Amino acid sequence: MSEQLAELNMLFDTIRDFVRAEVMPLERYFLARDFKTLWPLVAEKRAKAKSLGLWLPQIPEEFGGMGLSLVTHGRVSELLGFTPLGHYVLNCQAPDAGNMEILIEHGAPEQQERFLRPLLDGKIRSCFSMTEPEHPGSNPTWMSTTAVREGDSYIIDGHKWFTSSADGAAFAIVMAVTNPDAPKHQRASQIIVPADTPGFEIVQNISVMGERGQGWASHAEVRYSECRVPLTNRLGAEGAGFVIAQNRLGPGRIHHCMRWIGICERAFDLMCSYANLREVAPGRPLADQQTIQNWVSESRAEINAARLMTLDAAAKIDREGAYAARDEISLIKFYVAGVLQRVLDRAIQTHGAMGMTDETPLAYWYSHERAARIYDGPDEVHKRSVARRILRRYA
Ligand SMILES: Cc1cc2nc3c(=O)[nH]c(=O)nc-3n(C[C@H](O)[C@H](O)[C@H](O)COP(=O)(O)OP(=O)(O)OC[C@H]3O[C@@H](n4cnc5c(N)ncnc54)[C@H](O)[C@@H]3O)c2cc1C
Repeated sequence: MSEQLAELNMLFDTIRDFVRAEVMPLERYFLARDFKTLWPLVAEKRAKAKSLGLWLPQIPEEFGGMGLSLVTHGRVSELLGFTPLGHYVLNCQAPDAGNMEILIEHGAPEQQERFLRPLLDGKIRSCFSMTEPEHPGSNPTWMSTTAVREGDSYIIDGHKWFTSSADGAAFAIVMAVTNPDAPKHQRASQIIVPADTPGFEIVQNISVMGERGQGWASHAEVRYSECRVPLTNRLGAEGAGFVIAQNRLGPGRIHHCMRWIGICERAFDLMCSYANLREVAPGRPLADQQTIQNWVSESRAEINAARLMTLDAAAKIDREGAYAARDEISLIKFYVAGVLQRVLDRAIQTHGAMGMTDETPLAYWYSHERAARIYDGPDEVHKRSVARRILRRYA
């Protein structure tokens, strides 16, 4: 084994052990929604992760991160996905991870100093505010939020929802129309709005599957009413909002898919352990039933396939960039989201009523990760764009 491979395996072992020993014990507070007890404990674990050098795996070393390639970070993301707080403890959680990447790539030095540094340090959180209730998120060129120039400021007006983690965030990166007469992909810009800007209002944490959540674990409806921010809060060129958003989404989808594979592995472990433990009659474990055996084999095959497809897409992004890998990215986005849903469903079914409780994270994931087929592009949109490109080749 090469030295580099041995080093990587050691890193994976360290992270796996850290997740099991330090992060998984916090699950019971998370699943009981006991946020008051939870957040101080999470802060302790974050400090520990940082002191062990397990911090910002996806961020370049010059910005204080571990500088992992997308493929290696993908492997790490799987290990962290084993428990709902894994990514958060290592400060590589959505939506902050994407915002860090945008600020590294497109942020001016002053923006990096004021917004990126504290984000990297884990001192603040952030959110990304693009989707609007009045318009289809799957067609983000159509939006009502505007940023109008007035002197050396933008005045932002708009209504957003599903701004994840806005509750307690120090700033939002907002997509707003700055150039209404430009071609549709050059109309919007990304602008930083500090949460203490007058006119920035969190209307509510939206109730999602019966739960409003709190802090990082929430999705907010946000109103921007005459929010005045300096022109220097814009990221990149005026009208470059979509290009920047696309840059963010490619690697972001790898992170999500590998996190979902981590969830699948945990669900698989739980399913297999329970199947051996639970007896349907004295001396007759559930594991002897052929239906369960089919679910075990089908799940194993699907998870393995999902991992290979995702690592292949990540390797292509590492080699050739996100644009060249857009088919692979779309394929994994809907394929892995489907595997996730099926594996969770089988694991819950195997557990019977226990699967519906919060004794395991299965029910939490089942309700909250249903969204995997919707956010970052619904299944149908990804299928449509891949199929159109394929079919064009046959025309
Ligand atoms: C849990 C969660 C977290 C989110 N976090 C954020 C966030 O942090 N920031 C943010 O800005 N947004 C966020 N979103 C919003 C998300 O990006 C949008 O929900 C997504 O883009 C889809 O937009 P929409 O909900 O408006 O659905 P619509 O665009 O209205 O689409 C509705 C349905 O129509 C179908 N459809 C749409 N277009 C097509 C097509 N071309 N062909 C065939 N069928 C189609 C699909 O089935 C789709 O599900 C989040 C959403 C969820 C659920």
